[in-house]
Amino acid sequence: MIFNIQPHERTVFDLIAQAARQCQVEAYVVGGYVRDRLLGRPTKDIDVVCVGDGIQLAEMVANSLSPRPKVVVYRRFGTAMLRFEGLEIEFVGARRESYSPDSRKPAVEQGSLEDDQNRRDFTINALAVSLNEHNFGHIIDPFNGLAHLEDKIIKTPLDPGKTFSDDPLRMMRAIRFATQLGFDIEPRTFDGIKRFKSRIHIISKERIATELEKILLTPRPSVGFNLLFDCGLLQLILPEVALLQGVEDREGRAHKDNFYHTLEVLDNVCRKSNSLWLRWAALLHDIAKPASKRFNKESGGWTFHGHEWMGAKMVPKIFRNLRLPLGAEMEFVQKMVLLHLRPISLTKEEVTDSAVRRLLFDAGPDIEDLMRLCESDITTKNPRKMSRYLEGYEYLKERMSEVTEADRLRLWQPPITGQVIMDTFGIEPGRDVGIIKTAIREAILDGEIGNDYDSAFQRMVEEGEKLGLVVK
Ligand code: ATP
Ligand code: MG
Repeated sequence: MIFNIQPHERTVFDLIAQAARQCQVEAYVVGGYVRDRLLGRPTKDIDVVCVGDGIQLAEMVANSLSPRPKVVVYRRFGTAMLRFEGLEIEFVGARRESYSPDSRKPAVEQGSLEDDQNRRDFTINALAVSLNEHNFGHIIDPFNGLAHLEDKIIKTPLDPGKTFSDDPLRMMRAIRFATQLGFDIEPRTFDGIKRFKSRIHIISKERIATELEKILLTPRPSVGFNLLFDCGLLQLILPEVALLQGVEDREGRAHKDNFYHTLEVLDNVCRKSNSLWLRWAALLHDIAKPASKRFNKESGGWTFHGHEWMGAKMVPKIFRNLRLPLGAEMEFVQKMVLLHLRPISLTKEEVTDSAVRRLLFDAGPDIEDLMRLCESDITTKNPRKMSRYLEGYEYLKERMSEVTEADRLRLWQPPITGQVIMDTFGIEPGRDVGIIKTAIREAILDGEIGNDYDSAFQRMVEEGEKLGLVVK
């Protein structure tokens, strides 16, 4: 099959092809760029593999451009990168890799294009587009990646056991791609993840967290978390979340499954916000439910008393373990977990202004995110209950803006004080001062004049004149 080269790509592809001819090496565009272009996803990173010296090819491409772009060389990896027309182009020599069991860093030697395609993680990531004269634009697809793109399948090019035990990060990548692209993981590939999941321990926490972040930033992260749970990886990388799964039944009373509830809340939040940290908060909002669960014999029901503050206390350990930032981002997540039950308790009519004010104070600038989380936390399948709960929150939001407005007015000071009025007209405290002050305040509140000293001063003079006062 021929790759449909777009006009904007033509220049870059030709440029690299010409430089490769001069270096007498074969060059190919490979991996994510080819995949994403065929899927119609926007992409700015081009990976170029050449059968030879990647750094030399990058220098040659740079030489043919004026002004000559800077070539960033990573000697240790044998790669080089340059920027051109908003694209980031990375060059590397084709390689063959061999792994040792305790490391995901392989021994690397020069190889053929075929070697290089063999070391790729999935068939859809192993596609190469030729930049060579004899077959320019041809797609080289040794593992049926094109068909798998069409059928939306994630599959390893070689035996899944080998691919995953060589580099266990690929297990996370499989699930991340399935979630991002809406693809299925081919059963033997998924089985390979199940068999080799325990090898995830050789992967750094940072890399695991990066993949989790990519899953969280998709429109429906539940897809990824379900896969992580089903293959057993979640139990290893985020055991606290995996523990949410399960239903206990006593005396015929069962509580809901907090794992599937959490995933529903997470997907709901994703429809309301793109914030990574609000999404983390949704994932962790009920994290202490297993630890706080009790069966109340008298009422015959389950309780989770204190799970909000216990949960907030669990957040730092989870963040530390995954090497997530421990500053403002973590504090935000803790605040959301701690406060996620507060709004529901304020949806009743008899709630006082001060209770509403206290929530506004505690949530501070994050009140809107908190309300998004609370609204997402409603997962009832009963439409009547659903609209009743949502109405409760609408009512609370109205109360919050009333209280805010009342407080704003009470605290609000117009820019002209009584003293200025008295000094300007040379009058004593009395009725006239009050009349002028009120007139200025109303004019500002009505938007007739700006809330600044000069406008207020001018209005003061006018109001004084109406009362027969003259400026001293
Ligand atoms: P994204 O950029 O969305 O993370 P990508 O597939 O482009 O996806 P990169 O990390 O940019 O991922 O890597 C580019 C290419 O390198 C991949 O398409 C794949 O062919 C190869 N690759 C990356 N990481 C691995 C890995 N861990 N094992 C095997 N091949 C990999
Ligand atoms: Mg990429």
